[in-house]
Amino acid sequence: MSSSPHIGLVGTLGDYAPGTQYTETFPTMDDPDATNWPGCTFLTSEMPTSNQTVKYSFNTTSYYHFASAIEFVDDNESPLSNLKVSQWVYAFENNPCSVKAAFPDASDDETDRFYVKVRSPEDEGAGTITAAIGTDSPGTAYDDSATNLELTETATNSGVFLSESLILVSNEADDNFTNANIVADDTLGDRTHIVALGGTVTAAYQGNKVEAGVPVLGAVTVNIVILRDEVGGTPAVSTNFVEQKWALVSENYAQVGVDVIVAGISTEDPPDDERVDLSDGNVLVETNALSGILAAEAKGIIDAYGTAGTNVDIHVFYVNGIKRGDNDGIVGCAVADYYHRSSEDSYIYNIFLTDYDNPFMTGHELLHLLADEYHSARQENLLYETPSSTDSETATKRIDWIQSSKVMGNDHVKKD
Ligand SMILES: [Zn+2]
Repeated sequence: MSSSPHIGLVGTLGDYAPGTQYTETFPTMDDPDATNWPGCTFLTSEMPTSNQTVKYSFNTTSYYHFASAIEFVDDNESPLSNLKVSQWVYAFENNPCSVKAAFPDASDDETDRFYVKVRSPEDEGAGTITAAIGTDSPGTAYDDSATNLELTETATNSGVFLSESLILVSNEADDNFTNANIVADDTLGDRTHIVALGGTVTAAYQGNKVEAGVPVLGAVTVNIVILRDEVGGTPAVSTNFVEQKWALVSENYAQVGVDVIVAGISTEDPPDDERVDLSDGNVLVETNALSGILAAEAKGIIDAYGTAGTNVDIHVFYVNGIKRGDNDGIVGCAVADYYHRSSEDSYIYNIFLTDYDNPFMTGHELLHLLADEYHSARQENLLYETPSSTDSETATKRIDWIQSSKVMGNDHVKKD
């Protein structure tokens, strides 16, 4: 935090930690009236006029009274050095799914929201000022150019200005969301700003600027294998299909600060294993549905291309179909711990997927593994039983608090 000269001071103040006493030489002090220094307690009885040493003390409040500053703050106006993509956890009504009318302003709506706060003595009494906010993320797809925000003076002549609450989002649909409280994307006062993990958010007002990170809190690595239907045959999906789907997974998991890393995508023939026959159009994952026992054909694939015997890593197999019991219409299957019997423990943390073209299926199956839980009844949740076919603010893409703490507690999510 740097300060700039204001009332009474000519010259530059250093960087001061609030609540500490300092001794400093000022070149000139042109306003020796302590009443113009709200909150300051001068320890000398006489005001210096030039080149003298003065001791003074101040606390956070008084410090900011004479130093222009800009910062990101939370609901309680406590400073934030890092920001996070919002989870919209309390944003929704269900049946049917809709965003609550007051979002994001109700008291419990969105605890990931933040504000831009400016202290500018020179603007005391202005009522409003205009600052700007923008984001910069790795690559270019998730950059949000600087957008103006109107900040309102918190009390008459306070010189303290606060924005409306703001939220970070990880995808275009959320960035474009509007309601009675949120204006159109990238117009004056826009409250939703797109960013990717590892990016930064910058707010600026005149000469003051503040930057906050959007940190990676954990990382999960997946290894992807696309299987052909027979030796030299047709791959279940294209590499491009896989890349598109996993880019969306990264958007989903930015909500919880988890970087989803695709270690590699390989295309393979079916393994030379009598248990495996993909020429019949599918891989059997359970001989008896709901038995919790992984079928031999699925085990054959994991044994060949996965890491059976250990579940320290995650493999994702794209196959031409999935069959559970008599049902050959399955589009995705997570070999999750909660579902499978302990006898199957050495096969968990694998996923089978098909060419089912759905934006949320991939992240859904990964969440079965990482949160280690069954479907959510919430219609906005990434684990809702029927993943949305298109993206929108009400799509099945949210990860709730309990799921996110389970994900962060999972050994497959590396924290450093
Ligand atoms: Zn599911």
